[in-house]
Amino acid sequence: MVVLDGKVTSAKIRQELAIRVKDLKAQGKKIPHLAAILVGEDGASRTYVNAKVRDCEEVGFGSTLIKLPAETTEAELLKAIGKLNNDDDIDGYIVQLPLPQHIDETKVLLAVDPKKDVDGFHPQNVGKMTLNLPTYIPATPQGIVELLRRYEVPTEGKNCVVIGRSHIVGSPMSILLSQHNYPGNCTVTLCHSRTQDLEDICRNADIIVAALGRPGFVTPDMVKEGACVIDVGITRIDDSTKKSGFRLLGDVDYEAVAPKCSFITPVPGGVGPMTRAALMMNTMKVTELGEE
Ligand code: NAP
Repeated sequence: MVVLDGKVTSAKIRQELAIRVKDLKAQGKKIPHLAAILVGEDGASRTYVNAKVRDCEEVGFGSTLIKLPAETTEAELLKAIGKLNNDDDIDGYIVQLPLPQHIDETKVLLAVDPKKDVDGFHPQNVGKMTLNLPTYIPATPQGIVELLRRYEVPTEGKNCVVIGRSHIVGSPMSILLSQHNYPGNCTVTLCHSRTQDLEDICRNADIIVAALGRPGFVTPDMVKEGACVIDVGITRIDDSTKKSGFRLLGDVDYEAVAPKCSFITPVPGGVGPMTRAALMMNTMKVTELGEE
């Protein structure tokens, strides 16, 4: 059984990006500059955004963090987005989700300039991804694909079951794994809360991607001997023994499932760090896609 180590792999990706930034500098070219908008005081969102800023610093990108209060109106947020769209120094930016209830997420995503949409959430970029055209790919599925590629996990002709059909994880994951290239060429089944006989479907899978947000949902009886299991789930559970006050649980019962697997991702240290690395990869892409 091979543990797909997202921590080690993402550190390697950051090192590679840092070298490319140095090259850009040496050639007198513009260094990518990523901005992030954070609305409100949600603890997890703040942690994620701060980590993204730290990643930018590590690889040598420019970074700007725009913190807006929770009571920011939709109009004010759209104005801040308009400013970033028109700022030539900002190459790409993200609006950290979730947004406060009173703000329409779809309106916000549609307002982002697709050329600066490094999260890959704008319909124009989703369409390009679906057609396998060069574009920004949402960070979590892109991070998973990168992990499969770097560990040379076989995908061609494999039965892949994706559990969860969100726009940011499950749905793009199912599209990428069915594409006509590596890692892809899978026969994909996309499952969700209305799926019947989910356990049976999983038992037939060579690759399982669990992205539903239910801790320990995937148990050994659902996993075929030799399967590759990718655990996307992150659920915070209060834990007073931890410095942070919480621990993270994945969607897979790791201890019980791991012995049956050919490959498996841990939580933490699997998909999470790869998601961050993929955002940095997308930000580097800004320079490449901009030239098309
Ligand atoms: P989401 O938007 O809540 O979507 C969850 C999906 O799971 C939905 O499609 C839902 O089906 C399906 N689902 C829920 N319960 C199910 C069940 N009992 N059986 C089958 N399907 C079920 O969640 P998300 O944003 O995709 O995130 C999923 C998990 O990944 C969360 O734990 C999140 O924290 C984590 N995550 C991790 C990363 C990372 O970097 N590691 C990044 C993003 C998200 P319906 O569509 O029918 O409701």
